[in-house]
Amino acid sequence: MDFHCHLDLYKQPREVYRQAILRNEFTWLVTTSPKAFAATSAALSRSERVLISPGLHPEIAGQRANEINLLLEQMTQCKGVGEVGLDGSTRYKASYAIQQSIFAAVVARSAELGGRILSIHSRAAASDVLRELARHPAFGVAVMHWFSGSISELRSAAAMGCWFSVGPAMFASANCRRLVAAMPKNRVVPESDGPFAHIDGEPLMPWCEDRTVELVSATWKVPKEEAASNLQENSRQLLQLLRD
Ligand code: MN
Repeated sequence: MDFHCHLDLYKQPREVYRQAILRNEFTWLVTTSPKAFAATSAALSRSERVLISPGLHPEIAGQRANEINLLLEQMTQCKGVGEVGLDGSTRYKASYAIQQSIFAAVVARSAELGGRILSIHSRAAASDVLRELARHPAFGVAVMHWFSGSISELRSAAAMGCWFSVGPAMFASANCRRLVAAMPKNRVVPESDGPFAHIDGEPLMPWCEDRTVELVSATWKVPKEEAASNLQENSRQLLQLLRD
């Protein structure tokens, strides 16, 4: 399974989509804007095995802020929402206030709708993300994607019940390996983050779960079979929440 993939952004999305349906029991296709969600939903045939969700990526929040109402409307129909979140890195500082107002609206809307499952970007902004989630305890479930905060931010997120989607590319960072080692083992699921995430110069594909299992197994110091069944069990539970 793959709980965070930008499948619509590969060079040949239809071919990747076709293969993802064959190879993966489940792929969560997160979009980066409400208009992209509408276009992707219209372009791809429906499959039980792929969840396409509306989002508004913090990296493009500056240009796409005018699509926020469309996103809030789309959220009515979708249990899964993403990619959403905050990016506090220098490159996106200029749009941080806009990012915050968008993310606040998404979290409030999730609570208003009775709870949503959010795939969340939190680069250099984990504390602000958690603070916003804490304001609306009924927002639903947070799946922190490629979490790269501090260990204390990880502990706060874990204490709040957050899930974590982890993929092969994040293991290149020593900090991320330490974080994965400290994550609650019953709330970690695989992701690819393809085609943005790369390994050896190649974009990761939605069916890279085996690689994630190997890296998680080494990081948790457990046998590969144990890591595999652990991630599979978690995946089944999160999938159930997405389908409820
Ligand atoms: Mn992403």
